[in-house]
Amino acid sequence: MPLEAYKKKRDFKKTNEPSGAVKSTRGNTGKNTYVIQKHQASHLHWDLRLEMGGVLKSWAVPKEPPKTKGLKRLAVQTEDHPVDYAKFHGTIPEGQYGAGTVEIWDSGSFEIEEKKPDELMIDINGKKLKGPYALIRFKKAGPKSWLFFKR
Ligand code: MN
Repeated sequence: MPLEAYKKKRDFKKTNEPSGAVKSTRGNTGKNTYVIQKHQASHLHWDLRLEMGGVLKSWAVPKEPPKTKGLKRLAVQTEDHPVDYAKFHGTIPEGQYGAGTVEIWDSGSFEIEEKKPDELMIDINGKKLKGPYALIRFKKAGPKSWLFFKR
């Protein structure tokens, strides 16, 4: 069930994160939400989120995402988030999943150029990240590991 893993991890009486819903993809214009949230949890990381199929597909990137070519970043896929999550920033209270601060590091839209099971070619139109990017599965580092880089 969509967003089940997301909901299971959170107590919405205690966190301000959106409880969320799957967004209708009807009338989709092809421009989808892109956001990166800087998340100071037990370990600092950047959460890359891309709207696909009515949810935000999500990856945790342990180092700052690259603005230029030449740097490849590990991106570990995490649970799908509701599309409303793209607007979330603030503090997740202590004791809750992902406790710490969330700030919107970059936002905008993206378009899919090519989508294969192990490869996603996208064009990002954000404020910090702009242009062609790739997400490529990196199985050597684990079943949820991808590499994220500018092409
Ligand atoms: Mn996170």
